Amino acid sequence: RSKEVGRNSFQLYKASMNARSLERLSMLSRFQNALEYDEFELHYQPLECLSSGQILSVEALVRWRDPNLGMISPAHFIPLAEELGLIIKLDNWVIDKACKQFKAWRDAGTNIHRIAINVSAQHLCQGNLAETVAQTLEKYGIDGRNLEIELTESSFVSNFHEAKVALKRLKMLGVSIALDDFGTGYSALSYLTKLPIDILKIDASFIAKIPDEYGNSEIVSAIVAMAKALNLRVVAEGVEKVEQKQFLQKLGCHTSQGYLFCKPLSADDWERFYSQWKATS
Ligand code: C2E
Ligand code: MG
Ligand code: MG
Ligand code: MG
Repeated sequence: RSKEVGRNSFQLYKASMNARSLERLSMLSRFQNALEYDEFELHYQPLECLSSGQILSVEALVRWRDPNLGMISPAHFIPLAEELGLIIKLDNWVIDKACKQFKAWRDAGTNIHRIAINVSAQHLCQGNLAETVAQTLEKYGIDGRNLEIELTESSFVSNFHEAKVALKRLKMLGVSIALDDFGTGYSALSYLTKLPIDILKIDASFIAKIPDEYGNSEIVSAIVAMAKALNLRVVAEGVEKVEQKQFLQKLGCHTSQGYLFCKPLSADDWERFYSQWKATS
């Protein structure tokens, strides 16, 4: 009886809310639970040097394994986490987990030079990113030069000065800064000289259309030339086809990342991939 009343009042409550706020509410509690019950995990995708064939670094990519919904993509939950004010908590979890994993691999003799971590745009100015990074590096005995922080342009748009200060503090730790999804968004080129950026990651949407779509190859080739002229490392994201890789090699693009070389893998699968790759290269 009381159960039925409960259900009815829930129905009323539900009817008074729109679908969006209901989604937010359930997401909020599920997300908080997920942080508490360790439902997040990191997958890892290598970046390949296009001239030597070496693996230069590994990008950590977060996944959410919900007991009912299964694996949820960050494209779905990162924007919500940002809206709900939970992104810094998640980012900090990722920073800790990725550094811990990097140390474990290094202790096991894995010769990966760097690990790349994505940080939300909000985090750069709002949180204590540099402090968190410094503490985590110290906790695991890792040199800052082993770390890359990937940011998108939106990190700089709202508060340029604060962003610059935060980036400088990261640079003082030896950390490299990558500009992710380059070419999308506002792409104000002045960021490239006004901020201490080390790496440009050309967005996958451009790579998807090379080498054949008219105009696109020229854009990619111009980005690569500009990166080289500015002494930036340049990474092509989303390389899926041999022709794309060959085109990028011809341009002198340093690094490629994508399904062609390796998909993002769980830590265990990545270790298997790495030892096979090592044995054959
Ligand atoms: P991103 O940093 O630009 O990561 C690249 C995305 O492209 C990843 O999607 C990766 O799985 C996917 N990808 C890699 N190679 C290929 C390819 O050849 N073809 C295609 N179609 N896709 C490829 P994912 O893992 O779903 O991540 C999506 C975005 O979510 C990331 O884009 C990043 O912006 C964000 N993200 C992921 N992990 C984290 C994290 O730990 N913290 C924060 N703040 N954001 C994260
Ligand atoms: Mg990234
Ligand atoms: Mg990207
Ligand atoms: Mg992205």
